[in-house]
Order: sequence, then structure tokens, then C-alpha cells
Amino acid sequence: MLKINDINVYYGNIHALKGVSLEINEGEIVTLIGANGAGKSTLLQTISGLLKPKNGEITFEGQSISGKVAQAIVKQGLSHVPEGRRVFSNMTVEENLELGAYLRKDKQGIREDFEKVYQLFPRLLERKKQLSGTLSGGEQQMLAMGRALMARPRLLLLDEPSMGLAPLLVKTIFRIIEEINKSGTTILLVEQNANMALSIADRAYVIETGKIVLSGTSEELNQSDQIRSAYLGGH
Ligand code: ATP
Repeated sequence: MLKINDINVYYGNIHALKGVSLEINEGEIVTLIGANGAGKSTLLQTISGLLKPKNGEITFEGQSISGKVAQAIVKQGLSHVPEGRRVFSNMTVEENLELGAYLRKDKQGIREDFEKVYQLFPRLLERKKQLSGTLSGGEQQMLAMGRALMARPRLLLLDEPSMGLAPLLVKTIFRIIEEINKSGTTILLVEQNANMALSIADRAYVIETGKIVLSGTSEELNQSDQIRSAYLGGH
């Protein structure tokens, strides 16, 4: 579904992604694990068209997207929930969700997706008239995910959805990610919480200072000594 072939991304002189290749098959949950500053957010931003790779290619469902602007990529069926949520705080929950659908014209489909999002996140339904800036961190995460779903993506990129959330809420968010996947959306999940990420992912890639250093099934990575000691707090 998504193929990344040997991309390099720079911030001025900083070489942030060094020959990264990665593949996601339809229906999978794939997780990208790495320490602070490894390049995880940079990779997601490059896939969604916010950053341009200097070379290499990204294809989504067989079409090249490496030169496209972010809006065209969303329209093609790929949505990104950025790190730190970034909801529009002066707008209500409902207005934020509406914005997620702004590229769509199918009114009936949009109505159905409102229903789906409210089913997935009942908390958002209770608070649909509330200003988003007054939501809790977990609720803002739900809203950011709901807003991305309003574009009806076939591939969803999630950047550290568990960041800063209480353990119980982290569990809820991960359960919802699994539900979104089961209803037909492929997922690329960036996480520092490697234990949780591997527990729901089919496969994983490990990134260190801009390079993919390891990949495999979640089971393989769970059993790897290198991963256990570096990312899973194991021995
Ligand atoms: P974190 O988990 O801390 O968000 P990350 O793996 O997502 O880390 P990135 O944010 O992708 O890492 O950063 C990768 C590298 O690129 C880091 O060395 C970072 O300092 C650098 N970098 C990121 N954004 C910029 C920028 N706008 N300008 C210059 N350097 C940047």
C-alpha cells in the first residue's frame, strides 16, 4: 500500500533521514519505534507531504506522492495525526471534526462518519459543543484522531498518540487504534511506548539517528535482546 524507497531528508545541514526504506501492506498495523530525535516525526511529515525528501521515492497505492502537496495526499486517502494533537482550541469539538472533512463533498458519507467517530469516541459526542482548548489531553488526542478519520483515510499515520496520557487512557487509545484498524484502516503508528506498540502491531521498524536499523514482525522484535534492552526496559 505504501512504499518508501531510499529517501533522504535534510533540515539545512542536518541529515535527518538517511536512506530510509519501508513498506506497509494494506490492513496492517505497522509501528515505528525509536528514541527522541531518531527521525520518527520527520518520516511521518515526509510521508504526508509536509517535508520534501531530497531524493528517493514514496508511492501510495501505486502512485508517487513524494512531490505532492499535503492537501493532495489527504485527498488521496492518507491522513496524519501529528504529535502534540494540534486541535483548533477556539473551535468546538464538532467544528474541528467538520474541518477534517473539508476536502469532501459527499454529505451523506460525512454524516455517517460523524456517527462513526462519535461511536468510537463517545466522550466527543458528550462534548461536541465544548471549545477544544478546554478538553483534557486525552480528549484532545481523541479529537485529533477523530478529525483525521473524518477525511475517511485508508492509511492513518499516528504520531505518539499515547504521549502524556495516564496509563488507563493509553490502554483506551490503543484499543481504539485496534478498532479503527479492524474496520479497514491501515495504520502506521509512531511510538516511544514500544511495549504497547508491539502488542498491537503486526510488524515494526526501529529507527536510530535517521536510519532503519532493524525490522521484523512484532513477535520477532519482542524476542530480540537488542530491542528488549534498548526499548522494552527488559534484560
Ligand atoms: P521525538 O520522539 O523527540 O519527537 P523524533 O524521532 O520524532 O523524536 P524528529 O523530530 O523527526 O525525531 O527529529 C529528527 C532530527 O531532526 C533531530 O535531530 C531533530 O533535532 C532534527 N529536527 C527536527 N525538526 C527540525 C527542524 N525543524 N529544524 C532542524 N532540525 C530539526
